[in-house]
Order: sequence, then structure tokens, then C-alpha cells
Amino acid sequence: MEKRKAQAIRIVPDLKIAIGIGLLKDMFHIIAVDLYGTTIYADTIPLPYSNIPSYYEQVAAAIKECIARNQYGEERILGISIATQGITSSDHTAVTYGTIMNNTGMTVEDFSQYLPYPCHLEHDSKSAACLELWNHPELDSAVIFLLNKNMGGAIITNHQIHQGSSMHSGTIEHMCVNPDGPLCYCGNRGCLETYCSADSLEYSAGLPVAEDIDYLLKRINSSSPFTLKKDHILVGVHGQYTPAIGAALFYVEQFLQSV
Ligand SMILES: [Zn+2]
Repeated sequence: MEKRKAQAIRIVPDLKIAIGIGLLKDMFHIIAVDLYGTTIYADTIPLPYSNIPSYYEQVAAAIKECIARNQYGEERILGISIATQGITSSDHTAVTYGTIMNNTGMTVEDFSQYLPYPCHLEHDSKSAACLELWNHPELDSAVIFLLNKNMGGAIITNHQIHQGSSMHSGTIEHMCVNPDGPLCYCGNRGCLETYCSADSLEYSAGLPVAEDIDYLLKRINSSSPFTLKKDHILVGVHGQYTPAIGAALFYVEQFLQSV
């Protein structure tokens, strides 16, 4: 009997596509990923956030335009996943705390009413954690720092993103490091957020990352009883598109689990 050759089975990468959106105060990011989590499209669209119907309509129009221009075809779109600054409800349908963008009360329906696709809402720092978990499935536990114009955090434990009581897990940005420090948007003083301003980050971004990590490692190890090794600090590689890509992976993971 003729032996059958072993064949590697590979999913057609762009059989399905997920769209990720990253909302910020003055712009939004739009990306598309394939079933391997590879970014096949990324763009930044300047549009100041405003909690009014025409804003949501414009975002939806840009999404539809992106799908049409790239000829993805409606039937291949798994869904639109939106990463936002602010904490979401546990059912991912609304923002329960959105002081940075002033979007408390924003709902997934604000977008989905203009879109013929499933939509999902996620806290941007938890989306960033999703992307790191995707890229590093071996990560058992980690603290994620999303160093954007504002700072965000997330906790990975047992290979999962910890949601926390009322979805508040990982909000390290409001840890007080100096009670007499600058006023934070949350109303308290000296939060970690106030020491990670865009200016200070821009300054540090001028330094090579490798040097930065060595310095960071030295500082951590000089003040902690538990020594970290260099490979305990991972630096994200997707830059400003991190939350949008991480958000889109929600639909990729959902699809892969269904096949
Ligand atoms: Zn604060």
C-alpha cells in the first residue's frame, strides 16, 4: 500500500480578517489583521473625539471605506474591535470610567449602529496585554505598561488578562508616588501618570531602547530584593498601533477557537 505523505495544514491567512480601532483624543488608528495576527493594514486618521453621533458615524464610514478600498469583502470580516482609553463594563458594551477622553458612557452601540459587523469594546491597556500574550504565549505572569501620551497598565496572570474587581485591574497609573505631586486628571495628586507625561516620554524615546532597558534594570534591581534578569523586561514592537492590533486579536482568537 502506498504511504500517504504527511501534509502540513495551514490556514489561509486572510480567509478571515479582523479590524482593530484604537481611539485617542485627537485621532484614531485603524488596522486589519489576518488569522495569523499579522497586521496587513494600518493607518492613522486625524479626528478629535467627541461624544456626538457624527463622530461615531465618521469612524464607521472610515472603517467601511477601509474594507472597500482593500477589497476585503464583507463576508471575510470577523468583527470590529475598538480599544479605548477608559475602563469598560465587564460585558464590554460601555465605558464606565473615561476621564481622559471624556467618554464615560460611550457604548459599543454608538459604533455598531452604523456597521454591519459584530463590534467589541476593550480598555486599551488590556488590548496591549492581549497583543503581548499573542506574541509571547509563554508569558505566565506580567505587568504591562502602556506608555502612550497617557499611561495605562494591565496584569497578566496564569496566561490570562486579569480583569479585577469592576474591571479595574492593572490601573497602576493612579498609584500615588508623591502625595504632594502634580494634579492628575483623576483628581488625586502625584499619581504615576503625572510622572509619565508625553514630554518625559518623548525625552526618553530619544535614547536607544537597549540602553534604556539596561538603565531600567539597574534601577529596579537596586531597589528590589528580587533580582530581575534582562529577559524579564520585554519591549513591545508595534508602537502606536499596539492597542488597535491587540483589540483585533479578540475576533481572531474567537474564530480560531470555533474551528
Ligand atoms: Zn490619577
